[in-house]
Amino acid sequence: MDWIIEPERKIPVTSEVDVLVCGGGFAGVAAAVCAARIGVKVLLVERYGFLGGLVTGGLVITTPPLDNGINREIGERLRAKGVYAPLQKPGAEMIALKMHAIDPEVVKYELVQMLGEQQVQLLLHTLIVGSIVEAGALKGVLIENKAGRQAIRAGVVVDATGDADVAAFAQAPFRVVKKPITMMFNMAGVDVDKVLSRVGNWSNLKQFVTEAVAKGELKFELGTTLEWGTPGVHAECLIHPGEINVWSGNLRGVDALDPNQLTAAELITREHVMRLVAFLRGHVPGFEQSWITLTSPILGVRATRQILGGISPNMQEVRGIRFADTVAKPYAEDTIRLPYGTLLPKGVDNLLVAGRCISAEEEAMGQLRLIPVCSATGEAAGTAAALALRAKVAPAKLDIAELQKQLAKQSVNLGL
Ligand SMILES: Cc1cc2nc3c(=O)[nH]c(=O)nc-3n(C[C@H](O)[C@H](O)[C@H](O)COP(=O)(O)OP(=O)(O)OC[C@H]3O[C@@H](n4cnc5c(N)ncnc54)[C@H](O)[C@@H]3O)c2cc1C
Repeated sequence: MDWIIEPERKIPVTSEVDVLVCGGGFAGVAAAVCAARIGVKVLLVERYGFLGGLVTGGLVITTPPLDNGINREIGERLRAKGVYAPLQKPGAEMIALKMHAIDPEVVKYELVQMLGEQQVQLLLHTLIVGSIVEAGALKGVLIENKAGRQAIRAGVVVDATGDADVAAFAQAPFRVVKKPITMMFNMAGVDVDKVLSRVGNWSNLKQFVTEAVAKGELKFELGTTLEWGTPGVHAECLIHPGEINVWSGNLRGVDALDPNQLTAAELITREHVMRLVAFLRGHVPGFEQSWITLTSPILGVRATRQILGGISPNMQEVRGIRFADTVAKPYAEDTIRLPYGTLLPKGVDNLLVAGRCISAEEEAMGQLRLIPVCSATGEAAGTAAALALRAKVAPAKLDIAELQKQLAKQSVNLGL
């Protein structure tokens, strides 16, 4: 391979903060809000111009109940604006999960409000590109934006990038996971009653589409190296009349850390969306007058890196064990609990991880990647970061009872 040697250069340190939160998805926002509530100086850095990550940018707008701790706060804010409601006319499996729909545009706005209320500093349009590690402890990150390359110093860092970017830059151990990739999209102008009277329920639409592929009415001969999982479509109603949110099928085998494969995935999933919509408009009664309002600005990558933390529980364990060091209980009713070690990467001090890249067995991640779990881990990580800083100890040495007490004050019912 050909190489270029970059000359050494001085990087300006543009911020110095107590807690730095990297990534502004649900995990990052929860971490930043909760750290700031303890009274420390918090900065959140996000690569895009909006918050919410996959929820707002990936159009992942169906969530299990937001009913414990910071999730309840978010749910109540959205409900007050009329944009958090149980799915309308859902398929049977959705009822089982008590899925709710949320409006991505209102979510974007409310998350910014929540940060503002706690005086969290926000830096958008900024990519984190490296870490500053001294003697095994993370001291900050390198960033790049239109102003060039800069450095941020921080007392404790929360990696909520979803991809464990900061942990990887800091050489913390991780594994790489390949999960199906999906381009979500929204449609408007759908005559929902007419569709449902033809297909029965939204889940049956997938069968309708699969049969059309078998009959050759819908062509999916896309790509030779990237394999389509399901050619199906799974649609849920939004909370606005005539609007639906479509989960249009899975592209398997993509390494989303490889920019070339990710580029190919963008092109293929978009082609898939266009063909699917043309089919729906032409063949499914109720779609005749419909149109695409938005394809997801962030491609739906479910997983990339997963940190190897102090503990990697499986599903049976997170559902069945009341860990003495439980720091997250995402739901009021469901028994899922996460121990503190799932947020602590091995080998690097001053770093906590939250969201879809925490440490757990892969088999459990299908449940642990869900939105309320990501925010609950963010709440725990942000609170822990601030308490560790205040107590002048490394996060790994934090008094767990203190953390649990603080989370209880924040209305988190850990069910201990
Ligand atoms: C197609 C699909 C369908 C899904 N369906 C559901 C569902 O129905 N219900 C459900 O509850 N969950 C669902 N999920 C899972 C859920 O949406 C995610 O796991 C969850 O939203 C992840 O939240 P997060 O905050 O951990 O990460 P993300 O939402 O990925 O947020 C990470 C943030 O960090 C930023 N970032 C990343 N790298 C950098 C960097 N280097 N520098 C600066 N910023 C950076 C990103 O821009 C992003 O804003 C689905 C996921 C996908 C992909």
